[in-house]
Amino acid sequence: MAINKEFLYDILKTGSVSGNEAELEKKIFDYMRDKADSVSVDELGNVLAAVNPNAEFKVLAAGHADEIGLMVSAIGGDGMLKVTRIGGIYTTTYPGHKVRVYTKNGVIYGAVANSRSIAKNKDIEASDLCIDIGAKDREDALKYVELGDTVTFDTDVRELVNGRITGRALDDRLGAYIVMEALLEAKKRGASVGCYSVASTGEETTGNGAYFTAARVKPNIAIAVDVTYTSDNCGISDAETGDIALGKGPVICNNPSIHKKLNERLRALAKKLDMPIQIEAASGRTGTDGDTMHRTGLGVPFALISIPLRYMHNPNEVCDLKDVEDCITLLAEFFIDCSADMELKPF
Ligand SMILES: [Zn+2]
Repeated sequence: MAINKEFLYDILKTGSVSGNEAELEKKIFDYMRDKADSVSVDELGNVLAAVNPNAEFKVLAAGHADEIGLMVSAIGGDGMLKVTRIGGIYTTTYPGHKVRVYTKNGVIYGAVANSRSIAKNKDIEASDLCIDIGAKDREDALKYVELGDTVTFDTDVRELVNGRITGRALDDRLGAYIVMEALLEAKKRGASVGCYSVASTGEETTGNGAYFTAARVKPNIAIAVDVTYTSDNCGISDAETGDIALGKGPVICNNPSIHKKLNERLRALAKKLDMPIQIEAASGRTGTDGDTMHRTGLGVPFALISIPLRYMHNPNEVCDLKDVEDCITLLAEFFIDCSADMELKPF
């Protein structure tokens, strides 16, 4: 399953702060338009692609298109932008970094103020950050920026050695890419059930995107595809994350709410494919769209396929493209393996 780097890197370069995902969703919509059996967008901007949309038995896979970031909350008399957090950012990663402000007239660039005293402040809050867009004063800044505009790091995608890449918000634009490519692979290989993939909005903040989608699709099974922490880098404990490494394959999650039979199926399929997989443990909730889809309608059995990721929620997240490929293959195989008569009750 070769990666379409041109499309993937385009996704990863596009701004999609939670609540402001339309530019990215439009790209996914256009990419899928002539390839899936049906593609639609809802009022929240979720792009939903389907294969066999008339089938009664439905499997819904979700990868979230939104990313964490900042939102302009105020502008000082000196023209500096003040911000609030959108999602689980590390505030200490912002000072000294270049950023993009997504305005109605396009991107405005900024520099986040830093100094010896700011750099020493480990308890820095989002409200302490100041973004310098070059404005002379408040009035000047308001010519370019509105309150409520969103902000991300100004980063690019870079290829590292050994098929690894770095960029911001691989969480979870990788997942949005994976669910779409897996759907197309399932179509090519003749899946029999209704297969649905959504590039969901709002996962990092409200979870509403996956909620709307699952509530409307009413799937029999839901699969979330998201990133997970690896334990193969400094500052991470394997007792917390499980023994997870880059390049060792998709991660299957065990927790009280994840469906054991779906996990067994995923493990059996990986074995059949001769694909390495890794196992992680999570407590009551997974903190992904899986939790949200699970609680829609009369309840939806779900599983979580995770992509190993280093430095989650930092400007330099790192993944291995081999893991991305394997996640696509595994999810496609899952779509194909599902049948309308599959038994989901434990006994
Ligand atoms: Zn995520």
